[in-house]
Amino acid sequence: MFEGTAVTAHLVLEDKIFVNAKDKLDLEMTNIRKNIIDKAMAQPSWGQTFPKCFIPLEIELIKLIEKKVPIITMVQMKKINSGHPIKPLTHFELKVFLKFQHAIGKLLYFDVPNLDQHIILSPTHLIDAFKSIVTDKRFCEGDKKRKDLWDVMSEKGVISKQAIDELWRQHKYHKFQKDKDHLLAMMNYLDILVEPKRYDSQHNRILPDFYYVASMVRTTDYTGYLQSISFMQRNIGIAFQSSSLIIPPALSFRLISYCLSIWSIKTYGEHDVNMLFHRCAVFVIDTSLDMHISCEDDQIIIRLVHSRNRSFILKDLASSISECLASALNKISQLYIKSSSEQCDITTKSFEMKLCCSAPEDPCFLSIDDLSSIGGTWLCPSHGIEHGMYTLTSWITTKETEKCQLNCPVLNEEFLSEVPSALHLRRLSLLFDVDEVRVLVIHLGLSYTVWSDLYKMEHEPELLKFQALRCCFENSAVTFNEIRKAVEAGEIQNPHTICKMCYISSLDEFVISDSQPEKWDIVLTDEHIDKISPLIGKKSLQFLVELEMDFHTWEQINYRQTERDLVALNKSILNEWKSNLCKATNVRPSMRKIGQAFKNIGKDITVLEKMLFC
Ligand SMILES: [Zn+2]
Ligand SMILES: [Zn+2]
Ligand SMILES: [Zn+2]
Repeated sequence: MFEGTAVTAHLVLEDKIFVNAKDKLDLEMTNIRKNIIDKAMAQPSWGQTFPKCFIPLEIELIKLIEKKVPIITMVQMKKINSGHPIKPLTHFELKVFLKFQHAIGKLLYFDVPNLDQHIILSPTHLIDAFKSIVTDKRFCEGDKKRKDLWDVMSEKGVISKQAIDELWRQHKYHKFQKDKDHLLAMMNYLDILVEPKRYDSQHNRILPDFYYVASMVRTTDYTGYLQSISFMQRNIGIAFQSSSLIIPPALSFRLISYCLSIWSIKTYGEHDVNMLFHRCAVFVIDTSLDMHISCEDDQIIIRLVHSRNRSFILKDLASSISECLASALNKISQLYIKSSSEQCDITTKSFEMKLCCSAPEDPCFLSIDDLSSIGGTWLCPSHGIEHGMYTLTSWITTKETEKCQLNCPVLNEEFLSEVPSALHLRRLSLLFDVDEVRVLVIHLGLSYTVWSDLYKMEHEPELLKFQALRCCFENSAVTFNEIRKAVEAGEIQNPHTICKMCYISSLDEFVISDSQPEKWDIVLTDEHIDKISPLIGKKSLQFLVELEMDFHTWEQINYRQTERDLVALNKSILNEWKSNLCKATNVRPSMRKIGQAFKNIGKDITVLEKMLFC
């Protein structure tokens, strides 16, 4: 009946169904029902819960897309929402709606500061904007301006903000001009364009006038950096090896972009070459330490290079950096799986971390499991270089020693009669897992009903543990001694675990022996925050506790930080501390407090000192 007409495209049912509208019991109706249900269940979003009230908004957005509106602002979105005859969504529901639409790939919306005021209705708009900057050389033919930009990008990996502005002023790209700031902010957020870190004389962040575009660099390292004098004695290395697949170039660009957003690029040699190359880069960690990253087809090799000798590389620094890079690699490879249309099974597990020998090229590898069986030193098979255990273990977080000193608090009567503070309780809750805390609080006299009520209400384990402990302490003044007895009676770990609750402040001792103790009195700046964040590694929660923030703050920060990016997480903790907690409590955000917290999470204070004051 409809053959040859445009309507055919809308016909999806194979069956021909004839309905007798006069017959109440017409069996064909069941057929229609079945067909519709089958079709619905075949839809990709089948099974996802979906509030009815989303539908009218979705229709409004589709209308806008049909009118070729690629981006709208949050203000416009709210207007559309409130102008609707059916009950409008609340602000919270609207965000849920946008995040849902984002998750199913219909639009782009990121609920983060600076980006949450715009909604990209047509994701291809962003891709087109991106392609106007990052493109293949053959698309620049006949366009001198773009060709020149391409040459600079392929050689140096940079593009000036002014050049983008001029490019988008051209008629062809005019459509990007209107929402320029948002499009650039998005590309920055997605690590396509990276803003280098720049500071004013007060160490506050300032906006640089150019971006890095790591994916565009075509040059290779010709500076002889890897062949420089005594390189072998100056570096330690690790490799992230992909067991199954070739590492896609896009993934290595993302990793280099990630590093560009944290550390600055090294300039090297008599011509001060910027060490950013094709899938390879050198970053400045501190005045005497560089990080060399080289991405190959099946592995990524990371080297820390000291200016004098590898034995000067501080252990805690190497392990914090490897933690941050491992989590970034994890995040990037997962993003890559999500965004790539082709089937690809790069998973976290397919990256194995191995130790590298110090040879500048074709290094030997040592798996971390084999480390214990090699004895005191490792003579690498291909080059015969000797590697001491001290340097080899630099990358690995060493387990804290369980032994206590002679004057350990558990044996000190005076200490045991004290009542723990809120900070002590938070530390205590971090020392045990949920099961151990359950045993502990029951031994401290909490009734099982109170525990099971808490257990049902609180799903965040860190909050649950702390709440349970706080309940015990609300009822009576529980002393350290009672905790010790409960730990012993419940046979939880060992009694000395609780010694970790009361670190003795040795930062003060450290400062006194120092020639300029006043240097720790400086106020934490943006630049400090950027520098310290990678040093905390995965000890984010412990660090937050040591800065005397509570678990609700942790919950909020952690919730905002949906992708596992350790550096960003640590940065939000430091920002939160400086701009909210310190302001609210009228505390001066001094480096001394940061140093103390850094030391209390078991990190080497000299790492921080070198980073900040050298
Ligand atoms: Zn249709
Ligand atoms: Zn070797
Ligand atoms: Zn002890």
